[in-house]
Amino acid sequence: MDAHTILILFLGFFSLKLIWESLLILLNIKSSREHAAKIPAFVKKIIDKESYTRSVEYSITKGKFSLLNDVAGAFFLVLLILSGFLGIVDDYLYSLNIGTYLHGLLFLFSIGLVFAFFSLPFSLYAQFVIEERFGFNKMTPALFFFDRLKALIITVIIAAPLYFVLLWLLEVTGSWWWLLAFGFYTLFQLFITIIYPAVIAPLFNKFTAIEDGSLKQKINALLKKVHYKSKGIFIMDGSKRSKHSNAYFTGIGKTKRIVLFDTLINILKENEITAVLAHEIGHQKKKHIIKMLILSILSVLLAFFLIQLLLNYHPLYTAFGFSRVSLHAVLILLSLCSGAFTFMLTPLFSLLSRKHEYTADKYAAQQVTKGAMHLKNALLSLSKDNLSNLTPHPLYSFYYYSHPTLAERVKALEKL
Ligand SMILES: [Zn+2]
Repeated sequence: MDAHTILILFLGFFSLKLIWESLLILLNIKSSREHAAKIPAFVKKIIDKESYTRSVEYSITKGKFSLLNDVAGAFFLVLLILSGFLGIVDDYLYSLNIGTYLHGLLFLFSIGLVFAFFSLPFSLYAQFVIEERFGFNKMTPALFFFDRLKALIITVIIAAPLYFVLLWLLEVTGSWWWLLAFGFYTLFQLFITIIYPAVIAPLFNKFTAIEDGSLKQKINALLKKVHYKSKGIFIMDGSKRSKHSNAYFTGIGKTKRIVLFDTLINILKENEITAVLAHEIGHQKKKHIIKMLILSILSVLLAFFLIQLLLNYHPLYTAFGFSRVSLHAVLILLSLCSGAFTFMLTPLFSLLSRKHEYTADKYAAQQVTKGAMHLKNALLSLSKDNLSNLTPHPLYSFYYYSHPTLAERVKALEKL
């Protein structure tokens, strides 16, 4: 294939993705509008007309915003590619004669920074206009910028040594370097997962061990019943940034812990929190976490194989404006452009994830007394409080939703 064909092929698939995904968003907005007048039957008991109208407005506002964001982002990327910007930055760094390691690192850093600056006004608008208008925003602009800065510094601290090792392996180990690189990357990722709860997460939030009391007793009774070992239950000050609520499990082995947002504790009753946790434990007991981990490791292996395949394929470099081959160029191209070819896989992953959600719901219903009822009430309360979209378009939810829609989940829980 020559460079011209590669570029045309990319632009074709990229446009297809943009058109298809925009269409889905438009359908989803249309679905919200069509259902705006009448509260869906399954939530009639718990939601009043006023909060329902707010949830419809929130869904429509977010839909319009993501449409704008997607279209602007796509045009920006195409502009960078067609203008030859990537090659210009690469040539400039090459002319500085600073060695391959620093050259590659600075290239990745500058391109990352360009995209960070581009997305900044969109993030600011989403947080301080949309989330603010619907009463979710709790952040001050100072906290927002401080968060970004911290994330940037942490990314550099993590990514720089990783990149150096990958490049070193490429230079010293020959054509099988990518298998060693894959091995190192996987171990590195494992290491980050282990240190994340104790080292990285506390840089952003405060975690306090749950106080003695009836909630702790209920949770411990559940953990004992299902033989689940954890290194503690923590409350996180999620309310520092947003009124949205959540709960999650984090870490592996010795650092494994349960984290509940303070916002979740304020909304749900104790039995409901226990049911939500039983659902999360269900994901572990039914091996969903391991399966997803294996899937992600396999995709990393595939990515490294692809990097090796493309590394010396000159037409690719020419197509995207580079004048010489390099690991950093392939890495950037893969991260910016591979979405144009992989977006068809999105519904497959969504489907698998939704299957897992049903299984975890069933597990929670079996392990907790009246679990199905408590979980159902928890989901209803959370959806109401988070102004969730209660009437997504079926095609949109089929394509994107990692969880079944609230209506589907409630229906399945009622059967249990
Ligand atoms: Zn789940």
